[in-house]
Amino acid sequence: MPVERLPSRDDNRPQVVPTAEGWTQPLDPDGRPSLQFDAPRGAKPPRHWADLTVAEREATVVDMGLPKFRARQLSTHYFSHYTSNPDEMTDLPADSRASLVGETLPPLLTEVRRLRTDRGDTIKFLWRLFDGALVESVLMRYPNRITLCVSSQAGCGMNCPFCATGQAGLTRNMSAAEIVDQVVQANRAIAEGELAGVDGDRRVTNIVFMGMGEPLANYARVMQSVRTMLAPQPHGLGMSARHITVSTVGLVPAIHKLAAEGLQLTFALSLHAPDDELRDDMIPVNSRWKVDEALDAAKAYFDATGRRVSIEYALIKDMNDHGWRADLLATKLNQRGSGWVHVNPIPLNPTPGSVWTASEPAVMREFVQRLESAGIPTTLRDTRGKEIDGACGQLAAADGS
Ligand code: SAH
Repeated sequence: MPVERLPSRDDNRPQVVPTAEGWTQPLDPDGRPSLQFDAPRGAKPPRHWADLTVAEREATVVDMGLPKFRARQLSTHYFSHYTSNPDEMTDLPADSRASLVGETLPPLLTEVRRLRTDRGDTIKFLWRLFDGALVESVLMRYPNRITLCVSSQAGCGMNCPFCATGQAGLTRNMSAAEIVDQVVQANRAIAEGELAGVDGDRRVTNIVFMGMGEPLANYARVMQSVRTMLAPQPHGLGMSARHITVSTVGLVPAIHKLAAEGLQLTFALSLHAPDDELRDDMIPVNSRWKVDEALDAAKAYFDATGRRVSIEYALIKDMNDHGWRADLLATKLNQRGSGWVHVNPIPLNPTPGSVWTASEPAVMREFVQRLESAGIPTTLRDTRGKEIDGACGQLAAADGS
């Protein structure tokens, strides 16, 4: 790559150092923030209909002495009527209904709490999993879409000091069905009229893997859940790949794997800093894969899929919001081509105990303006659900009542 002149770093602004505030960040023996890629071993969640392929579902009902077409009926109940209640499945034979459902649709998510914003356009669900682990999902109504932010892991092992989820570490990977069931439960809540201003026959149109966890650290199960979201009804949720966003902190080999899946998924890279000096501290995984490698992988995702990728950038006052960083980000993106990327800055949402705050509005405007004047499409993202701790980076799944 040609060496280009990088923007000057001299803009006379203070530089806040991203050390963890209000909690103790776990460190490796070498003093670096620890990274946890492998989940601790433990009991596996029960196998569920949504973990199975269509062929496996048919084999399951045949094993139970029932004809194959019962599989399709059961799928319709779960994926189209959002029910796991045998009493609602009157087209199934009364004598085998309870055992069939007991075998194939074990309860995965037990609702602990449901919080709503005042306007009722955002709902945060707190779920307890079979082993007591807690996860959250956030349902948001927009003018033209209904988005569900799903969790892919209980906790997170990526240890980013500005994100509440990382503070408790990684409990475990979620199963494909535990991920899919968040969508089914949200659809059920909509059908029951829970989301203000939405007809009961509408359903979740968009998924963002921006809840708890690092989706690419739970690659196989996340992809299996995606395939079930994409499968046409009644075999799955019949969703569109373009409306599913996989967001990562930058696990480069997994980004290349995702690019090779042949799917039109939307891809987001949580960059947050264009220079390794700062990103090494903000995003511990930057010790493995540097800014340039993460950006190269994001560009490779675009090259393989034709899907414009998103760069996520939480604006933190005096930490990463300097004008020269906007210029450096624009330079690095433009070096890799044009039309392949857009940037989504988002004001930092405060996490418990943190002393960092979102950038000043004028600073945010300048950051956006510098990117735009360099030709980079940029949209300042709104933050939803702050008053119910449901906004980006605030999901900590505490049961404290
Ligand atoms: N692990 C994945 C997905 C979960 S986080 C990832 O990092 O992309 C979803 C988005 O919220 C990421 O872009 C993340 O960096 C951002 N985020 C985390 N903490 C935040 C905070 N306190 N304020 C604003 N955004 C935050």
